[in-house]
Amino acid sequence: MSLASDVVSFYLENKRDLPWRREPTPYRVYVSEIMLQQTRIEAVIPYFERFMKAFPTLNDLAQADEDTCLKLWEGLGYYSRIRNLHKSARIVAEKGGGKLPDTYEELIRLPGIGEYTAKAILAFAFHKPYVPVDGNLMRLYARLEEDKTPPSTQKGGKNSLFTKTGDYFLKRLDGDSSSYGQGLMELGERVCIPDTAPHCEICPLKAYCKAFKDHKTLLYPSPKEKPEKKSEERTVLVFYKGGKYFIRKREEKGLLASLYGFCDLEGKKDQNEIGEILKEKNLKVSSVKKLCSYKHVFTHRIWNVSAYLVSLEGEFTEDGIWADKESMLDKYSFPSAYRKILEKLV
Ligand code: SF4
Repeated sequence: MSLASDVVSFYLENKRDLPWRREPTPYRVYVSEIMLQQTRIEAVIPYFERFMKAFPTLNDLAQADEDTCLKLWEGLGYYSRIRNLHKSARIVAEKGGGKLPDTYEELIRLPGIGEYTAKAILAFAFHKPYVPVDGNLMRLYARLEEDKTPPSTQKGGKNSLFTKTGDYFLKRLDGDSSSYGQGLMELGERVCIPDTAPHCEICPLKAYCKAFKDHKTLLYPSPKEKPEKKSEERTVLVFYKGGKYFIRKREEKGLLASLYGFCDLEGKKDQNEIGEILKEKNLKVSSVKKLCSYKHVFTHRIWNVSAYLVSLEGEFTEDGIWADKESMLDKYSFPSAYRKILEKLV
């Protein structure tokens, strides 16, 4: 027996009956892997079944219009996933006659396919010798080898937990890469579970596991490295005229994409500096009043916001919308980064 054969036996006896596993063609594996990014398996199942009914082949997907694809994706979130999937389908339909390529180099060039997805397609559908690495595998490896390297959001170099995990499991691959890779994932999801005591009593890898032997399973993996948050000063100007406030839709890409906001300036400006800026723009202003100051914490950054209400008298030619209090609350979507300002205004 070997680690790989123990994993495969466990998988064959315990695997869940998931729709993409019933007929694991490259296209179905590809769609399922894209849907499963940042989404739970239970939530994905009905979407996957609807999607396959609408687009049974990659060529069907390639021929669909983007709005139909987006509608089928509605509620799954992270819409760049479906846009990229659709783009890739068109590329593959045009260049490959509807057949997904079976090499890493070709797959990784398609929009939205990263290292993990490319390896998952190659291992799960083409049975090629690859092992896709995710958080489940990193946790398994850290406990098997008592490796204290903290999981990083960055993949890192050869000493990162990500690389060491990939090397460890690839070296032990022996036989069917599809059952092996999916078996490792199942073990991580259902047996070697995170944040609590793993179910070692039913684990087929006990004999290989250093943390189990040393009764130290809860010490691994080490806590995640938290990226340092970048602090930014922002000055927000809320223009006001005739009972309405000036708002505008943010860019389609980037932070707070497509949500509504006010006019932002980088840096912290005081009332004199704001006065100068407004003067340069030839704006006729009756008053500039401080509304509030607050800190808003995002995942990777912090905004220190100073907000001002600028009452206008004359013309204002920027692109945007003049909205009253009611419509700001009911009609337009504002991110929580502006909630304090809205509370002040309404
Ligand atoms: Fe994880 Fe326990 Fe199995 Fe070790 S024995 S891999 S800690 S479940």
